[in-house]
Order: sequence, then C-alpha cells, then structure tokens
Amino acid sequence: MKTRFPCLLLALIAISSVFAKGGPAINDKCPVDGNAVRIIYRLFTEKGNVAFCCVECMALYEKDPSRYPVTAKKPGS
Ligand SMILES: [Zn+2]
Repeated sequence: MKTRFPCLLLALIAISSVFAKGGPAINDKCPVDGNAVRIIYRLFTEKGNVAFCCVECMALYEKDPSRYPVTAKKPGS
C-alpha cells in the first residue's frame, strides 16, 4: 500500500493540473480550421479557454491569435 500511494498522488496532481485553469472552453469549433475541438488542446487566453482540434492548430493560433477570431459557442449547447 505504501508503494502505491505516491503513484496515486502523482495521478491526482496530473489531473488537477489539467483542470488548473478551470472551466470549459468558450468555443466548440476550432478557430483555425472549424473542426470540432478536443478539450485536451486548449489555451488560456484573455477571452477564456480556447480549444482546438489538434496541436498544430493550437500552435498556429498561439503564433498569431489575432488572425483566428474565436467564435464562442451558443449558451446551452
Ligand atoms: Zn483545427
């Protein structure tokens, strides 16, 4: 039991770091190419959490955020 505990702790830290910047993404379509987003690819911006479909889009957006306007999803969807 003692040997398993640190693994559990590490897992908890990993989970909490994923959600550290909290809250769902403001968008459900990738601002770069319009595909459905995956929540694991997201950036915290002044507008909120912006999600992307893939790591390439995330990198493109990060280089030049003003080029890709983010469309926030409709409330309730
Ligand atoms: Zn994309």
